Amino acid sequence: MSDLGAIRDDAQAATGAAGDLRALDEVRVRFLGKKGAVKALLKQTGKLPPEERKGFGMQVNALRGEVQAFLDARKLELEQAAQDAVLEAGWLDPTLPTERQTGDLHPITKVLMEVVDHFHGLGYEVASGPEIEDAFHNFDALNIPANHPARDVWDTFYLTSGEIPRTHTSSVQIRTMENRQPPLRIIAPGKCFRNETIDATHLAAFNQCEGLFIDKDVTVGHLKATLEGLVERLMGYKVPTRFRPAFYPFVEPGLDLDIECIFCKGSGCSICKDSGWIEVIPCGMVHPNVLRACGHDPDEWNGFAFGMGFDRMVMLRYGIDDLRRLYDGNLDLVRKL
Ligand SMILES: [Zn+2]
Repeated sequence: MSDLGAIRDDAQAATGAAGDLRALDEVRVRFLGKKGAVKALLKQTGKLPPEERKGFGMQVNALRGEVQAFLDARKLELEQAAQDAVLEAGWLDPTLPTERQTGDLHPITKVLMEVVDHFHGLGYEVASGPEIEDAFHNFDALNIPANHPARDVWDTFYLTSGEIPRTHTSSVQIRTMENRQPPLRIIAPGKCFRNETIDATHLAAFNQCEGLFIDKDVTVGHLKATLEGLVERLMGYKVPTRFRPAFYPFVEPGLDLDIECIFCKGSGCSICKDSGWIEVIPCGMVHPNVLRACGHDPDEWNGFAFGMGFDRMVMLRYGIDDLRRLYDGNLDLVRKL
């Protein structure tokens, strides 16, 4: 019994005297290590008469707990002292973040890189154009004359200068065809602007990715194969698709590519409005008037164009149910992906 008390007092004195963490660890080894004082006591237990063993073992365990508590308390004191010394020395900035977080690419950037890679593989190049356009490139050359009611469909913003924050990336088609001779294969990703009421599926500033293929004897079959390949690449599986006729002034015929709703797999849900399909890519064969406006003979050249709602594609790819989440600055979403 006196051994126990003496060891306890020794341990208390030794931890109190330890001047740094290394010295403290030596104290720990001396008392709680394999060859330490407490272990030695436990070994004695076997030599005791059976009726005393249990009580003695409990006392040794209690002693072990006490010694550990001395060590823990002293460790805190030493750490605090070290921190205070650093602060006093004045070279630590305590306002710096304690944990470094690595960055990641935004889901839109990730999908964009994949789209670019996909089309590079098909021989396309990436083209770009100004975000602030004139009416000719945004409308007139796309077969949408000033008095045409279709112009209203685009909910255009107008600057006081009369210029237009482009309503679609189709203006890049025009700029490319004006300046270059077919054959042409381009994609043009970029921001577009429309006076939309912002909700889960509409934004006033959004991303589109335009595609244009101009060559000889191009058919709807080429268009279909190209877009089905793109959708399969982006969604990661052979998702069922369908093409529906649609009207866009710059294509004839105009089409909408739908994919089977990824949320309900075609059985109907609130996101696909119970149709089982989600519209993803408006497209069609380039209208002869558009080729003419850019100085090309529609009897010699033809082709197809498409304008993918890029944010929506990202939404479908990652199963995000609200477009606004892509821009709300909540990094949890990005980390999760
Ligand atoms: Zn659905």
